[in-house]
Amino acid sequence: MGSDERSSAIAGAGPARVDLDPDVTLVSLFDSSCAQFAGRPAYHNLGVTLRFADLERLSRRLAAYLLGLGLARGDRVALMMPNVLQYPVALFAALRAGLTVVNTNPLYTPRELRHQLADSGATAIVILENFAHVLAQVIGDTAVRHVITTAVADLVPEPKRSAVNFLVRHVRHMVPRFHLPQAVRWREAMRRGAGFRFAPPAVRPDDIAFLQYTGGTTGTPKGAMLTHANMVANLMQTRAVWGRLIEPGCEVMITPLPLYHVFCLTCNCLLFMERGGLNVLITNPRDIAGLVRELGRWRFSLITGVNTLYAALLAHPRFSRLDFSRLKLGAAGGAALHPRIAEEWRNATGRPLVEGYGLTEASPVVACNPPEAPRIGTVGPALPSTEVSIREGDREVAAGEPGELWVRGPQVMRGYWQRPEETAGVFSADGWLRTGDIAVLEPCGYLRIVDRKKDLINVSGFKVFPNEVESVVAEHPAVLECGCIGVSDPRSGQAVRIYVVLRPGATLSAEELIEFCRERLTPYKVPRQVRFRDSLPKSQIGKVLRRELEREQAAAA
Ligand code: AMP
Repeated sequence: MGSDERSSAIAGAGPARVDLDPDVTLVSLFDSSCAQFAGRPAYHNLGVTLRFADLERLSRRLAAYLLGLGLARGDRVALMMPNVLQYPVALFAALRAGLTVVNTNPLYTPRELRHQLADSGATAIVILENFAHVLAQVIGDTAVRHVITTAVADLVPEPKRSAVNFLVRHVRHMVPRFHLPQAVRWREAMRRGAGFRFAPPAVRPDDIAFLQYTGGTTGTPKGAMLTHANMVANLMQTRAVWGRLIEPGCEVMITPLPLYHVFCLTCNCLLFMERGGLNVLITNPRDIAGLVRELGRWRFSLITGVNTLYAALLAHPRFSRLDFSRLKLGAAGGAALHPRIAEEWRNATGRPLVEGYGLTEASPVVACNPPEAPRIGTVGPALPSTEVSIREGDREVAAGEPGELWVRGPQVMRGYWQRPEETAGVFSADGWLRTGDIAVLEPCGYLRIVDRKKDLINVSGFKVFPNEVESVVAEHPAVLECGCIGVSDPRSGQAVRIYVVLRPGATLSAEELIEFCRERLTPYKVPRQVRFRDSLPKSQIGKVLRRELEREQAAAA
C-alpha cells in the first residue's frame, strides 16, 4: 500500500507545522503577556475584573508565600476551586514558583479526593472553603501539610466582599463546618507573601506543569504528566488554527466550563492569557438562566462548551435575543457535537460552532475545525505538527476505514505519573499515543470521531456506535438530550437502549421515537428500549456519563 492510500496524515489543511521555541515555558509566556497587556482585562467574575497587572502582582505575592513555606521546584500543589478569580491567581502563582499543579474537581467525594491527593503526593492545597470539610476528612491520609482556604468573594473589594461571603456562609449555608487547624486564609497568605521578596526559580520547558487526572482508557484515575513544553505546544497549535481570528488584547472569551478541566485550561485560561484576552469566568454553568443573563452583559467574541451546554443554551427562550454582533466563533469539544446543535447555533447566532477533538493525554487538543472552513460532523484536520494514524491492531487501515486513532506530537504527555505499566500500555514502541477512540480520516484530511472503542455495542455481532444513535435521536425536535448504552439481551447478546430527556413541554412516546429512528438507522442500530428521564448523569464539563447509566442499569437488573 502506497503511503498516500494509508490512513495517516500530518495535518490535512492549514500550516503543517508550528515553529516551537524550545526555551518557552508557561511562565515566560505569562511574564511577556503581563508586560505587553498590563492594563488590559484578564479575568472577570462576580462583577470584578482583574487586569494583567493585577494578576501579575497577586500571583507574585502568592508565589512568594508558597516558596516561603519551603515548597521547592516540582513539588505538587492541588487547586480545588470552581471558576472564581482565585483560580488563575493560584495557578500562575504555582507555576511561577516552579510547582506542579494538580487540578482537583471541587465536587470530589472524600474517596476520590483521598486517591488524587495521595497518588499525586501533593503537599499543599489551595481550596475554596465550601469544600474544605471534604479535605478535612481525608487530609490525614495524604502528604498535604499546607492548606490555604479561600472564600468565594476574597478578591472582591469591600463592602461587597463581606456581604457576599456572609451570604454564602450564613444565609445560604454553603460552607459546612470543617476542622483544619493548619489552614491559613487566602488574605493572610497574600499579606504574608507581600512581605517576602519573590526570587523566581528557573522553570524549564521539560518541568511538569500539571498532573492532570483522567480515567483514561482503563478507568482508574491517574495523573497525565503535562510539561510546560506540552502545554505551550498545544497553545501554539490551537492558536495557529484560530490565529487569524484572534486580535491580541481585544477578545472577550466566555468560560463556562471549569478551568480545572484540561479543555478550558488550555483553550480558555492559557490561550487567552497568551493572547491578552479577557476570560469571563462562569462559576455555575448549570444555571442556564444565570448564564444567559451574564452573556447579556457582554459583547463577547468567543465561547467554548460541550454539546449538552450548547443544547441547553439554545433551548433557553432568551438566548436567541442576545447580542452576537461581535461573536466570531463557538468552539465545542470533549464529546460529540450533534449536527442539529451546530446548525441551530449557526441559525441563532449567524456564526459557526466548530468542533474539535482532544484528550487529557494530549494537553488536550489533537484536531480542530478551522473557523474559515468547518465541516459539521467532523473534528477538522489534525493540528499543525501533529501526526495521526488510524490503526487496526498495529496495522494502518486503508484510507476512509474506521480504526483506532493514534497520535504523535509535541503536545502528547510524557506518561502517567508513577505508572510505568499503564504508560507502556498507551504508547506504542515508536511513541504513538493510542487514544482508545475509533476514528475515520476522510479523503479531505478531516477526522471524524466514531466513538470510544470500549463503548461499542455488539448486537448479534453487528457493531453499533452509541454516538451515531445519539446523534440521530437528538435530531428529534422533542429531544433535549440523550445517552445510549448497550444492555444485555438473551437473543442478541446486547441491545441498544436510549435514555432521553425531553424539551420542556414536549411530548413523545417510545413508539414514536423508535419509528423516527427506523427511518434513519439500519434495523440493528434502532434502540430496542427507550427510557425517559428528567436528567442524565454528566461529568464535570457536562459530558453524558454512559458508564453511570450502565452502572444504574446493572444495579437495577
Ligand atoms: P478527557 O480526557 O476527559 O478530556 O476525555 C477525552 C475523550 O473525550 C476522548 O478520548 C474522546 O472519547 C472524547 N471526545 C473528546 N472530544 C470529542 C469529540 N469531538 N467527539 C467525540 N468524542 C470526543
